[in-house]
Amino acid sequence: MKDNIEKKGEVFEVCPHCNARLTSWEQVLLKVDRALICKKCWYKIILPPENPLEPLVDEELKK
Ligand SMILES: [Zn+2]
Repeated sequence: MKDNIEKKGEVFEVCPHCNARLTSWEQVLLKVDRALICKKCWYKIILPPENPLEPLVDEELKK
């Protein structure tokens, strides 16, 4: 039994706009880039940032 369901809703399996199924490769790209353009409807799928590892320091520097 490998019921290892790690569905936390981070990655889309289908386009939220036109419901076109994303290929596993597109899902990988989406995970890496956190953005992917659906080839069917050209909707830009964007994932919310998971790891805020790079905090914006620009404003601090401007002070
Ligand atoms: Zn789409």
